[in-house]
Amino acid sequence: MDEFGLIERYFQGLSSGAPGTLLGIGDDCALLQPPPGEVLAVSTDSLVAGRHFPPDTSAADIGWKTLAVGLSDLAAMGATPRWFTLALTLEAVDPDWLDAFARGLGEIAQRFGIGLVGGDTTRGPLNLNATVIGSLPADAAVRRSGARVGDAICVSGTLGDAALALAQMQAGLAPLPELRRRLDRPEPRVELGLAMRSMAHAAIDLSDGLAGDLRHVLAASGVGATIEVQRLPASVALLRGATQPLQRMDYQLRGGDDYELCLCLPGDRLQALQAVCGLPLTRIGTVTAEPGLHWVDAAGATLSIPEHAYRHFE
Ligand code: ADP
Ligand code: MG
Repeated sequence: MDEFGLIERYFQGLSSGAPGTLLGIGDDCALLQPPPGEVLAVSTDSLVAGRHFPPDTSAADIGWKTLAVGLSDLAAMGATPRWFTLALTLEAVDPDWLDAFARGLGEIAQRFGIGLVGGDTTRGPLNLNATVIGSLPADAAVRRSGARVGDAICVSGTLGDAALALAQMQAGLAPLPELRRRLDRPEPRVELGLAMRSMAHAAIDLSDGLAGDLRHVLAASGVGATIEVQRLPASVALLRGATQPLQRMDYQLRGGDDYELCLCLPGDRLQALQAVCGLPLTRIGTVTAEPGLHWVDAAGATLSIPEHAYRHFE
């Protein structure tokens, strides 16, 4: 099978139906029409074997995650997912692998109503890249730069599960299925992203660990924050799997791969937002005028937390 047969067989079916697709897969470019008055939100992410997923990850889960990470970026801006392109680098054409990959990818694409409109297919070490395109009214985008002094800082869901799963696997242990699922099938918080548009001043999605990602928001907004570490939301599986508080905090703050949203917004809007999006939101701290990140324990005493999150180049 050459790459044209491969596209036809595995990927043509993922293209159907996204509104505004004037021309999809098959020409030199796709032609896309956002709704009147909206602008495009565009983000690209690559998954590299061994770096973004463990070598034993199933092809279906790789397919899911390839798109999930980009959808999480769209969610963080408040954009509606519309289209994506897919750049595939494959070692060889393995029909079983491609079948499962396309299934996982198709599952998440369908769930969020995003259509495949093009891509590129080459041979080489396994690498998956998706460029996602969303749309939204220009003035509705929630940027990193909008946090205001006094805003509540909150996060969706729970933190640290994927990091614990990875750490357990690196130690030769089998993580609980619910932890492994957080690593392999992250849930992009698209509904929360849409719901927070009119409520949040600033947002970021948590891919590299809260400690590092929150710093991006604070730097862009020219503010600081106080975070109460005992408020960091933990799943039951994390509490059971990481019984040492300091170690647990490390997974929650520096582990990465959470794909939850971190929002800055007036505290009195939190309940309404939670009711709309149907997802647990936890207030973990407050935006302050004094720059920098200030971590405190339950008694209000200052804690020192190492600065860095996950970085590819150090
Ligand atoms: P070109 O050489 O003009 O860039 P290609 O021959 O690479 O185009 O691709 C032919 C068509 O198939 C294009 O519309 C391209 O967007 C699409 N395509 C290629 N690879 C993929 C893929 N992995 N998934 C979806 N569409 C793809
Ligand atoms: Mg061309």
